[in-house]
Amino acid sequence: MRHNFGAGPCILPQEVFKQASRAILDFKDGLSILEISHRSPEFEGVMAEANKLVKELLNVPSGYSVLFLQGGASLQFAMVPMNLLPEGKTAAYLETGVWANKAIKEVKFFGKAEVVASSKEANFSFIPKDFAIPADAAYFHYTSNNTIYGTELFEVPKTTVPVVCDMSSDIMSRVIDVSQFDLIYAGAQKNIGPAGLTIVIVKDEILGQSGRAIPSMLDYASYKDNDSMYNTPPVFSIYTAMLNLNWLKSKGGVAEIEKENKAKADALYKEIDRNPLFKGTCAVEDRSRMNICFVMENPELEKPFAKFADDNGFEGLKGHRSVGGFRASMYNALPITSVHALIDLMQEFEEKQNK
Ligand code: PLP
Repeated sequence: MRHNFGAGPCILPQEVFKQASRAILDFKDGLSILEISHRSPEFEGVMAEANKLVKELLNVPSGYSVLFLQGGASLQFAMVPMNLLPEGKTAAYLETGVWANKAIKEVKFFGKAEVVASSKEANFSFIPKDFAIPADAAYFHYTSNNTIYGTELFEVPKTTVPVVCDMSSDIMSRVIDVSQFDLIYAGAQKNIGPAGLTIVIVKDEILGQSGRAIPSMLDYASYKDNDSMYNTPPVFSIYTAMLNLNWLKSKGGVAEIEKENKAKADALYKEIDRNPLFKGTCAVEDRSRMNICFVMENPELEKPFAKFADDNGFEGLKGHRSVGGFRASMYNALPITSVHALIDLMQEFEEKQNK
């Protein structure tokens, strides 16, 4: 049995992969999902259902649109200021990691970014709490889960300006109140579906205010006005996302998976804190449930533990190069049995050291 703690892309349940692979060979009357027209009623049905599932699972209020785009979350780093930031105006950003930093870099093409707080000096090991968001900022942007560093923001910072959030690595993992946001974006590939699809949830009334001419493919309105079919959409990613969202719904939805994700994270952090060989790398109150980063008290034991994990069927535990050590990514599809297996492995390793 392999246990996949990798950070992605695209960690989905086996049964979803099986369903998706069947549709490649025969989606309808022997035709592949890849070859039927995206303008056919069948694919339009897939698109409509995927859209409905996002709305249903996240309880998206009326007045918001769910859009399916391409270009990854990284294209959103530029599309957000292009669509929401009037020329010469300032947007406020919270710098909590590499992804936030990359988002900040794109703002200069359209206006100014004011970094309201940063934990860069501490290698992004915590989420800054004390900061003021200027009341005249065009919007406030933050990253809810810092995939590389293993920190997560569970509370939406209080502000009167529109809130924009990069939820790439924790969307669909816990209940959120969409009405607290004006725009949410996420590369789909962690908890939604295969890479190649990007989800945007936008409050309709904030669009069309930038005063800037925007090329069609970079304008949220093109997706909104054409049911995300302004051009050929990423059909396979959307189909697989639909299957996966149906799987999530069948499990009881986001509230149920949140309970499971919490139980998984609590169990692993408990072992990290108990086991004298390991230590967590982040401030306890900011610990992510999706990406759990830890190192060894004795760095010399890192290689032997990595080998022990590898020999026992554990995949993807290597930490990101900017943090080192280990990172257990525990997206929705990772079963709790894999977390228990990892805890057993850590305890076995501890016993081996004590012999
Ligand atoms: N934002 C976050 C939080 C991420 O984790 C990632 C990728 O892992 C990105 C943005 C970049 O996403 P993409 O590769 O879809 O551009």
